[in-house]
Amino acid sequence: MAIKKILTAPDPFLKQISTPVKEVTKDIQVLMDDMLDTMYDAPGIGLAAVQIGFPLRVIVMDISWRNEDGKKEPYFFVNPEIKVKTKITSTYEEGCLSVPDQYAEIDRPEECEVNYLDYNGQKSTLHAEGLLATCIQHEMDHLEGILFIDYLSNLKKNMIVKKLIKSKKQSSKERIVA
Ligand code: ZN
Repeated sequence: MAIKKILTAPDPFLKQISTPVKEVTKDIQVLMDDMLDTMYDAPGIGLAAVQIGFPLRVIVMDISWRNEDGKKEPYFFVNPEIKVKTKITSTYEEGCLSVPDQYAEIDRPEECEVNYLDYNGQKSTLHAEGLLATCIQHEMDHLEGILFIDYLSNLKKNMIVKKLIKSKKQSSKERIVA
């Protein structure tokens, strides 16, 4: 178990397409454990492997742990594929651990059905709606190298990217001072 560094935009590493996992081995389970630790520490509700430098089709999520009772209900998805999605969309204000402190309203299909391998390599299907559906679609975009800011107008996107570059420069300055 370990907390990894999360890559942030505009790091070109985040733009690549992740490759499928051949088999859910012990190494992949360790990766999923590390991803979950990193996500809880960040804190966030979803993380794709590419965000910590492993361009593999692996996602972890837990949309309920930040509720009042704080109960952890992690989901693990290996090689997820969306089989069905509704035409009806819903809108959530999305953020991303790779786009720190930036938020925007994004429309996505309200419900979807996802086939995937679970933590133990078993074939599974999830019917997701609401926040769960939005989150899995956001994470699956990472596997294609897509960030939520890619859905915004070029003007808005460029503004966000400029802010991110500026804050990266500031944080590296701080490191030198320390
Ligand atoms: Zn994200």
